[in-house]
Amino acid sequence: MSVLREMIGNFFSRPVTIRYPWIKVPIPDTFRGRVANTDELCIGCSKCSLVCPAQVITMIDGPRDVVFKGKTLARKKRPQVDLYKCIRCGLCERHCPTGSIHLEHVHAGTGTDRDVRVT
Ligand code: SF4
Ligand code: SF4
Repeated sequence: MSVLREMIGNFFSRPVTIRYPWIKVPIPDTFRGRVANTDELCIGCSKCSLVCPAQVITMIDGPRDVVFKGKTLARKKRPQVDLYKCIRCGLCERHCPTGSIHLEHVHAGTGTDRDVRVT
């Protein structure tokens, strides 16, 4: 009898789920989403690669002139991240001196391609 009452109650109440992806829940500021890199800010210092506990950041060729603290640097390398091996710890973001590498505030980022990389 209580099941029937619950069914009737649910029939007339609003759904508890939301219509994702049309409606999205707010994401907290501390949310750790997928890693992204703003290439024009990256000076190629390799700090992100050195601190990454999952060792998923490889420094690859990426020559570019980058302005840092008023000086123009001739960058040689840039990071490449194995996205689906990343554990989203946020250490790369914390140690990056330029704010170049960062974790995005989006919860999408799933997929079936294990070789997806971010550079
Ligand atoms: S979030 Fe953590 S695991 Fe992912 S790339 Fe950065 S340091 Fe590595
Ligand atoms: S992303 Fe940041 S820590 Fe990594 S190489 Fe570029 S400037 Fe250095």
